[in-house]
Amino acid sequence: MSDPRLDLLFEFLRFPSVSTDPARRGAVADCAEWLVGKLRGFGLSAELHPTNGHPIVVARNVHHTGRRTVLIYGHYDVQPEDPVAEWRSAPFEPVVRDGVIFARGSTDNKGQILAHILGVAETLRSHVDLPVNLIFLIEGEEEIGSKHLAAFLDQHRDSLRCDVIAVSDTGMVASGVPTFTYGLRGIAALEVRVTGPKTDLHSGIYGGVVMNPATALARLLATLHDADGHVAVPGFYDNVQPLAGWEREAWARLPFGDAQILEVTGAPELFGEAGFTSLERSWARPTIEVNGIGGGFQGVGTKTVLPKEAFAKLTFRLVPNQQPNDIVEKVSSHLQTKCPAAVRLELIPGHGGEPYATDPHSRDGEAAQRALRRAFPGREIALIREGGSIPIINTFKQILGVDTLLLGLALPNCAAHGPNENFPVENFELGIQLNQALLEELS
Ligand SMILES: [Zn+2]
Repeated sequence: MSDPRLDLLFEFLRFPSVSTDPARRGAVADCAEWLVGKLRGFGLSAELHPTNGHPIVVARNVHHTGRRTVLIYGHYDVQPEDPVAEWRSAPFEPVVRDGVIFARGSTDNKGQILAHILGVAETLRSHVDLPVNLIFLIEGEEEIGSKHLAAFLDQHRDSLRCDVIAVSDTGMVASGVPTFTYGLRGIAALEVRVTGPKTDLHSGIYGGVVMNPATALARLLATLHDADGHVAVPGFYDNVQPLAGWEREAWARLPFGDAQILEVTGAPELFGEAGFTSLERSWARPTIEVNGIGGGFQGVGTKTVLPKEAFAKLTFRLVPNQQPNDIVEKVSSHLQTKCPAAVRLELIPGHGGEPYATDPHSRDGEAAQRALRRAFPGREIALIREGGSIPIINTFKQILGVDTLLLGLALPNCAAHGPNENFPVENFELGIQLNQALLEELS
């Protein structure tokens, strides 16, 4: 039996709208056109805005003064489907197996944004007006860093003015557990280069005489943490907002913790800053990670060389109220202080994004929680933060001046960005109900 909601999602999923792939440019454009056509068919006014990259789709209902304005953001672009051989079915030929939809984009983000669109479409089809002024903002470059969105927001600041933004592009802690994400970590990046001699040297002649940059780098990196997992950079924790008592209690009750993290990661045991649980470490504590390290001979066999340089790429995950520039400065001056005179240190700052936090007990936070309770009757809501970063949320705050409610429906095993990406039919349908409850509660 065909289900018109699923048929529509399948049409959406069949577009290989891979934004990073120049060969898929046409498919990305076709997907945007399709979306505009559907939004118009549902009774919204929809426009396609070309950018120097992929187009942005904006749709609205008829706005009335005196009503609140809600902007729902999502994206129609997807990640590449590689490695194709690991998919059980073709990535752009959606199928349902055991109640779960398999296709690239099913969770991230076509299934989730289409659930919002269908929630609106079904309300309008029953000849009931929406309770709010609604704006859909659906871009085609989320998976490649939303390159043209900030300029677009700036240019259309007035017509995009809204009271609150809702995004379904985050996760649920477990199946059937309504999840409200009220915080995200920020990020800052720093590349560290240690150089010594003007060229690679014979380690038999110069070893023990000239300082080895690879050894110097390893020693420098080791000064970033103490043995208990605390960051040892002076001032690193100065502005860190301590965890609230209610957060620690609520997170301890979540049906997700060390056992699941061990299973997902395959690590022999967990490790982290002493005095905090794994969820606290991941969501509310800042970190320094070495993302890559290199230098010297990397080939097969042995080469007795004293390399002229070594490098490491670092990123820091930040929590409220740390600032990316401040942290990069503190880590830089720590490394400079620790660097021996026998090598030279070069520090290259990279991209940064501020941490994000909203109050889950604000007016709109409470409204979001009521909507989740209506979509998931009888279930306790998980109030969580996430360890990752969604830079666009800060851009919304800076340019439009409003908070974003993160009401994701992705499950931990949804394989977003990986092979066999999937989305349960149940979550798709819950998303439709959640949209309707959310717009009512936010009004
Ligand atoms: Zn994604």
